[in-house]
Amino acid sequence: MTGAPAVRVGVSACLLGQEVRYDGGHKRDPLLTDVLARFVQWVPVCPEEEAGFGTPREAMRLERRRGEVRLVTIRTRRDVTAQLATAAERRVKQLAKLDLGGYILKKDSPSCGLLHVNVFGSRGAVSRTGRGLFAAALRRAFPMLPVEDEDHLRDPRILERFLVRVFAHSQQAVPKELLRHSSLNSEF
Ligand code: SF4
Repeated sequence: MTGAPAVRVGVSACLLGQEVRYDGGHKRDPLLTDVLARFVQWVPVCPEEEAGFGTPREAMRLERRRGEVRLVTIRTRRDVTAQLATAAERRVKQLAKLDLGGYILKKDSPSCGLLHVNVFGSRGAVSRTGRGLFAAALRRAFPMLPVEDEDHLRDPRILERFLVRVFAHSQQAVPKELLRHSSLNSEF
């Protein structure tokens, strides 16, 4: 392929190898960095960094408090829901100007997780019913945008369907070479 890829895809920044996780590490995914990067233009976002929490930072989780799901730091028990939600709303407004074709989110994160994120209740009860606060803001702002988490994309059929939707959303055909890669995805 020649020139810069025309399709922009939002992505949790840690999946590209950026060291933005709470412990200063990353979750680089070779499918994204070594294969898809040749066909799309990434728009990396770390909502927790953008909320000003810094890196490294205290780990946080979703908790149910008085019937509401809140984002809470685990050790110091601070409710940081408003801080993250404000940053997320600001970011989705910026993303609206970029004509994204899709978005890939980091699974299980209390900020980026798309589905089945742990929500901790009283007396240690845990339910996998949550959605990260940034993922929720993204879904509200762009209900038609193709969105997946990196774990789902390990299934070659889901990956192929996702790519078709992403390129269709950007009114482009999927490059044939990319489809060949997606059907060979088992190597990732
Ligand atoms: Fe990765 Fe999202 Fe956590 Fe940032 S907030 S480290 S992008 S999962």
